[in-house]
Amino acid sequence: MAYEVEKTDEQWRAELSPAEYEVLRRAGTEPAFRGEYTDTKAAGVYACRACGAELFRSTEKFESHCGWPSFFDPKDSSAVELIEDRSHGMVRTEVRCARCGSHLGHVFEGEGYPTPTDQRYCINSISLRLRPDEG
Ligand SMILES: [Zn+2]
Repeated sequence: MAYEVEKTDEQWRAELSPAEYEVLRRAGTEPAFRGEYTDTKAAGVYACRACGAELFRSTEKFESHCGWPSFFDPKDSSAVELIEDRSHGMVRTEVRCARCGSHLGHVFEGEGYPTPTDQRYCINSISLRLRPDEG
């Protein structure tokens, strides 16, 4: 499928740091509890680090204690794309940026978190850039 933002592998490599490239473009996973936004409570919008699309809001972020920033809902359902992921011998749902196709993390359901959706968007900090609210 075609994304609104399409770049060659060389362009992504040039624009992203090696660690960002590994997660965003190679579907890697950053180490648990190391990401810069794991425990962040600041108010704002989390944008895609690859293309700048607004993906998640701090109001839907919750403490999952899983080691990665967790959200119970994206900012808009059309902001992210969900894809079945059968890698690593598991069936999971991959979360990608709908604008540029970059890998963000996975979404899990029915884990019993006390959130309105019972979903956990488990997202790599390095895939995101927090835009704090003004004031
Ligand atoms: Zn993006």
